[in-house]
Amino acid sequence: PDRGSNSSKLFDRALNVMPGGNSRHTVYFPPYPIYAARGEGAWVTDVDGVKRLDFINNYSSLIHGHCHPEVTAAIARQAGLLTAISLPTEAEIELAEIICARMPSVDQIRFANSGTEGVMMAIKTARAYTGRRIIAKIEGAYHGSDDTAAVSTYPHPGRFSPPESGIGIPEPGSAPGSAADVLVLQMNDVEGTRSLLRAHGTELAAVLVDPLVKNLAYQPASIEFLTMLREETKALGALLIFDEVYSLRLGFGGAQELLGIKADITAMGKIIGGGLPVGAVGGSAEIMSAVYDQREGKARVSHGGTYNANPLTMAAGVAAMRLFDRPAFERLNRLGDRLRDGLTAVVEATGADAMVRGAASIAGLFHARGGGQTYRELAKVRMDNPDMSRKAELFFHHMLNNGVLMGGPGFFILSTAHTEADVDHVIEQAGRALELIKAGKA
Ligand code: PMP
Repeated sequence: PDRGSNSSKLFDRALNVMPGGNSRHTVYFPPYPIYAARGEGAWVTDVDGVKRLDFINNYSSLIHGHCHPEVTAAIARQAGLLTAISLPTEAEIELAEIICARMPSVDQIRFANSGTEGVMMAIKTARAYTGRRIIAKIEGAYHGSDDTAAVSTYPHPGRFSPPESGIGIPEPGSAPGSAADVLVLQMNDVEGTRSLLRAHGTELAAVLVDPLVKNLAYQPASIEFLTMLREETKALGALLIFDEVYSLRLGFGGAQELLGIKADITAMGKIIGGGLPVGAVGGSAEIMSAVYDQREGKARVSHGGTYNANPLTMAAGVAAMRLFDRPAFERLNRLGDRLRDGLTAVVEATGADAMVRGAASIAGLFHARGGGQTYRELAKVRMDNPDMSRKAELFFHHMLNNGVLMGGPGFFILSTAHTEADVDHVIEQAGRALELIKAGKA
């Protein structure tokens, strides 16, 4: 840390006018976050002139890194035409067509401005379509900040209710009753979940699931678990919602295509906006038009939004999604394989107590072995490995001081702007960091 640095001074200024110094918890890290000045492809330059490889990519939304010339040109072109207007534009149809063509379960889509809204709309769609109240979600899974979706995202281990009760806990600040209509499931617990869903079958509107849960150390939902969710929801007359805000990049047509599971409703965000704010909900024409088509007085859910499908986001999204074609998708996944293989090799070579997780263009390195699938098991892993968060912090700071911006809890997110050399630099520095941590020198 350098208290005389521009970043440190900006943070002091920010603390005067914003609680915690920011509008987004995840940008903070101690002792002060570095402030960004500009981005270029895989690189980000901070306000002190230091250049680093960006392996966060705005929490996975920048599929082509920073300022891809074609995305920037599309934004500039649109900015010269119009940025926001109370009329629909063709760009909205274009982006909808691209996404509907790629996602087997999505015939129709509606846009909003954040993944949080995409998930919120998915939940409303399910409740309006089924006329039922309960949403089931997985304990510890982050789905944005809608009250329902946020239930039991970070429950305190001292407050766990018995898993077979399905009882959730509202997040601080949520409506006190927000957990009353939520059923909390344990990740990958096939039989326990089946019984819980059946016990609430007549009131169950939908199960909300993210197929790769970032804050469960990238625990993937097992095929067995997802297949059970698909079968049970169908049998109970409930809907299956995939939260693909984060996971869309796992398959060319989203994680659903990769996994061979068809959701009824899909929440989207991040990469589809080409780096500008976006969220969306999509599904079959049967469900979507029953809920949202305002002609003939059919609509059951009112859906407005001053900036929904704003032309700037739509133009950036069209440019980005066109560039993210199959060859680009496949090349990016090969870089992801290279990174995970390389990280696994340095973990083995150093004998570090760590595990490598992730899929496609996402990799995670977590400082404990063995994992644990559920939030509760991971909480126990953390209790049994009290030095985990200190190691993660040392690792993060080593990477930061050696040219790599990564996700604090231990993740790396690739973009098409990355090269093999960029990936190899991460692997080399990860190896050094693990050696230093082991030797107690980091
Ligand atoms: N769902 C998932 C799985 C996410 O990862 C996120 C964001 N990290 C969200 C929803 C919320 O998206 P946004 O931040 O755009 O509101």
